Amino acid sequence: MKQDTKKIEAIIAPPPAHMVGDGFRVHSFFPGHELIDKKRMSPFFLMDYGSKIEFTPSEEPRGVGVHPHRGFETVTIAYHGRIAHHDSAGHSGIIGEGDIQWMTAASGLLHKEYHEKEFSKQGGLFQMVQLWVNLPAKYKMTSPKYQEITNASIGKYQLPDNNGVVEVIAGEYKNPATPEQVTPGAASTFTPMHVYNVKLKKEASVQLTFPADYNTGLLVVEGNVTINGQLALADHFVLFKNEGNTIDITAGEEAILLVLSGEPINEPIAQYGPFLMNKWEELEQAFTDVNSGKFGVLED
Ligand code: MN
Repeated sequence: MKQDTKKIEAIIAPPPAHMVGDGFRVHSFFPGHELIDKKRMSPFFLMDYGSKIEFTPSEEPRGVGVHPHRGFETVTIAYHGRIAHHDSAGHSGIIGEGDIQWMTAASGLLHKEYHEKEFSKQGGLFQMVQLWVNLPAKYKMTSPKYQEITNASIGKYQLPDNNGVVEVIAGEYKNPATPEQVTPGAASTFTPMHVYNVKLKKEASVQLTFPADYNTGLLVVEGNVTINGQLALADHFVLFKNEGNTIDITAGEEAILLVLSGEPINEPIAQYGPFLMNKWEELEQAFTDVNSGKFGVLED
């Protein structure tokens, strides 16, 4: 291994799945894992992974009804199936394979998340990820915001020899072979981070480089890969140590990886249900504000 290799801390198998509403069967990789507490992957606070599942046709779209959020962003990444979203800030949208919805709840909103109507009627394969990205205290009470990021709008770095592509959702990507070429990410973020979907052909290789202090991990969404010499299978999460910079990846078969790397937010965390703040009193205030209608109105 090279001197600056970013070593693997653990390869984590998917925890038992549970349902969120009746539409999202997810493995909650973090927080709550013994190796990944509420800060270990900061600014990424939560990762729910909906591994592949076949939904039967349903006239009534499955999903999660109206609920509030405050203090962070929800980022939904679709791999199979289609998801519809509505919120009390007036945003709505539908995302499908390869698309991303980046919703900044910030000071607070109500939203609902469902399988898209036509997808629901037909049924079919469904696979997605939802991340909760924390906001620093100074941005927690800013206005809600919504970025619908279609696959076509995502910056893509084509790997040499038609070996695959790095889709840059946020941050930027530079290949060591062509360091002058910077591929910028599609999403605007409040703190520095890199989020990629890396799509590799069988036996293709890619090298990723991140600052040593950035919290870094990746989910094997499809296929399997060898990372710095270690095999990681589909549906597993690879957590990296906060030392070294370089990650060498080779696909054993055609693979998709969701890569996360971000500068930690070093602030206290107070979390309860759908609220992610710094202090307990701010959670109490969130409840008060929801109950007094400050998060707006959204019909179920
Ligand atoms: Mn939600």
